[in-house]
Amino acid sequence: MTATSERLLDAPLSALGAHLHPAIIAIDGPAASGKSTVGYRLANALGYLYFDTGVMYRAVTWAALTRGIAITDEQAVGELAHSIAIDLLPPQPGQQDGRHATVLVDGEDVTWLLRAPEVERNVSAVSAYAAVRAALTAKQRAIAHRYGRGNAERAGIVLVGRDIGTVVVPDAPLKLYIDATPEERARRRHRELRQQGKTIDYDQVLADMLRRDHIDSERTLAPLRQAPDAVRLDNSDQSADVTLTQALDALRAKIAQST
Ligand code: C5P
Repeated sequence: MTATSERLLDAPLSALGAHLHPAIIAIDGPAASGKSTVGYRLANALGYLYFDTGVMYRAVTWAALTRGIAITDEQAVGELAHSIAIDLLPPQPGQQDGRHATVLVDGEDVTWLLRAPEVERNVSAVSAYAAVRAALTAKQRAIAHRYGRGNAERAGIVLVGRDIGTVVVPDAPLKLYIDATPEERARRRHRELRQQGKTIDYDQVLADMLRRDHIDSERTLAPLRQAPDAVRLDNSDQSADVTLTQALDALRAKIAQST
């Protein structure tokens, strides 16, 4: 072990974040794989901003559904993606309802509306449209580089999505691909929905999830893929704590390699 990697083992986590250049961590993976949990905890541990890019695709889908725009109308949905304002804010002290961020669409708080089954069923079709991807990818990349260069109020950024390591920021020095079996992912999503008081059966959750995974991985533009240089973590049979430890180990290894 080199002197640098020995020092990194002992470094406080916030100090560790300062060693990554650019300070960008890319996390991809299928629905309910646990990528948001590990991404959020990693961002908090390092003092980085947590940015769940999926909410942007959900926001466009929600806006189309509520404005009566047909999901099949590619042109209208594409124009909508360019015209609506999507803002993400840190949760305010009174908002202790489990949210990782508050999502505003044209100023309206839609954080929980984006989790509705109807949004969930239509989001993969919306996110396959070229104009939608062009609009949202450009916004995500600009935010990533502003934080990654250290020109923002946090020391860095963790982006979570489907194409972060492959398309949005292929220059991210640390890429993680988080996976779990479809059955385990459906069980987690089913539990989450039940906790929110929604009654839906497990088989339906599994079927919807498999359908969404299929569209996300088979689409022509920016399909869900593990980047060749990503570290794959399978958390089907392990706790979120173990996955976080593995992610931090991967970060330490990456920094030690580059110093
Ligand atoms: O991560 P989440 O389940 O909230 O993402 C919702 C949908 O948004 C995904 O199923 C996918 O179709 C789309 N998405 C995407 N690219 C990203 C993030 C999400 O296409 N970077």
